[in-house]
Amino acid sequence: MRSSGKSGKLLPQVHLYPDRSSRTLDLEEIASYLIEKLNRLSVDIRGPLFTERAGVNTRELARELARARIRDPMRKNSDSEPLPAEINLEQKLLQNPELRILGLFYDGVSLWRLALKLIPEEERNHGHLHIAFTNRLFGTWDEADARYHARVSLYGFPCLISTTGIVEAPAKPKEFYALRQHYLALGVPGAYEELKERFRGRFIDYDDGRLTEVMKGYVMQALFYHLTGHPFCEDRNCRLYNAHWQEEVIAAQLGPKKSEFCEAHARILQELQSSIT
Ligand SMILES: [Zn+2]
Repeated sequence: MRSSGKSGKLLPQVHLYPDRSSRTLDLEEIASYLIEKLNRLSVDIRGPLFTERAGVNTRELARELARARIRDPMRKNSDSEPLPAEINLEQKLLQNPELRILGLFYDGVSLWRLALKLIPEEERNHGHLHIAFTNRLFGTWDEADARYHARVSLYGFPCLISTTGIVEAPAKPKEFYALRQHYLALGVPGAYEELKERFRGRFIDYDDGRLTEVMKGYVMQALFYHLTGHPFCEDRNCRLYNAHWQEEVIAAQLGPKKSEFCEAHARILQELQSSIT
């Protein structure tokens, strides 16, 4: 339990759930950061959310997770019965939360519903803010262009933040894709790694040394969502900016800039800090 004191009436108890496969994600540092921003906040760090646990049938949960997988991003999830091999893989992931398998994509809403079932019943209320990190990549269906779009986070109850989403969802620089097409056309072996090296620093990669710093902003978005109903900001220099490009993520979360938040959000934080008893 990390706490700087008793939580005020309006402040939720924050529960952080780690992604064990992310070596550079430090939840202790994120908990301290939250308390630094709102010093009456009570924060605890738990075990991973999607894992084996008492009172939950692992095989059944694995089946539900396999069912939540998106097989074709151009088709709304048909909710078809998963194959035994898919269920086996999910079971292995539940039993080994330190594993990261790329290439799996989930319907965010289905995943979120499953996450809610894993939260203790007595904590399913506004007095609690559950923020679960996961390496599962999830997306939401966009009616406008009839396809799924990968997301970094889903803010609701609970909040989900994807450590794979931060790498895959915000778009890399345009030149990156142009060069990738070029290399693909030429069939150059090892080109992807070379390309990543060439653009190093301009996007968040797996096990990126900047991951914890970046995730502080996403956790603040979850907190603002919980407290005000609005997780995002229009200001590109504010940590609450809803970035669609990697370079926007880097600008909003890593600076350089004068302050972490825009004036309006800094003021809201200050007011929360002083008004909550
Ligand atoms: Zn702002």
